[in-house]
Amino acid sequence: MIDDKTQQLLNKGEILPLMEEFYTIQGEGYHTGTAAYFIRVGGCDVGCHWCDVKESWNADLHPATLTNLIVQNAKKYSDTIVVTGGEPLMYNMDYLTEHLQSEGLKTHIETSGAYTLTGKWDWICLSPKKNKLPLQEVYDNANELKVIIFNKNDFQFAEEQASKVGNDCVLFLQPEWSNQEKMTPMIVDYVMNNPKWKISLQTHKYLNIP
Ligand code: SF4
Repeated sequence: MIDDKTQQLLNKGEILPLMEEFYTIQGEGYHTGTAAYFIRVGGCDVGCHWCDVKESWNADLHPATLTNLIVQNAKKYSDTIVVTGGEPLMYNMDYLTEHLQSEGLKTHIETSGAYTLTGKWDWICLSPKKNKLPLQEVYDNANELKVIIFNKNDFQFAEEQASKVGNDCVLFLQPEWSNQEKMTPMIVDYVMNNPKWKISLQTHKYLNIP
């Protein structure tokens, strides 16, 4: 149970439930191979059955942390900051991103797009989920669409999602990790037949890094 003052700070984004933060290599999508500092915010109610960070779902398990401290820490490591979750857009991201950018850092987000788009972003990676579809404003602003392919029905979902993003949005299909041996060959065929798509692999998992 959080008190009123903490709730007010949370509403303004001046504190965030911080699950973990770490410097690593972006393993997925458009910026694959780029060193970046990851800030993982706790809390998600989207409920994907194959989610590989279920321990992020309950925000109460993650310490409410001053956003200023998160920024001061992040800038020691990298000029590229990836905000992920959980679902970071459950919180107001304006304060965090304004302060990161004022330090000269690039702000990237990984989001399901299911909540109002707050924050100033240099790169938005939208990874839509069937359980809770993105808001149109997130489709409109996405730089990258990354659809997770768990089974063959997901190709149709991917096409539906691609029809909602802007023309410049880069399109990726990514095999869900637990099913990747089965789905990767199907994705290879699909991309060869539909070259507007690219393949995204979770290379950090092959490299055994966070
Ligand atoms: Fe997990 Fe992301 Fe789905 Fe939330 S949106 S349940 S964090 S995969």
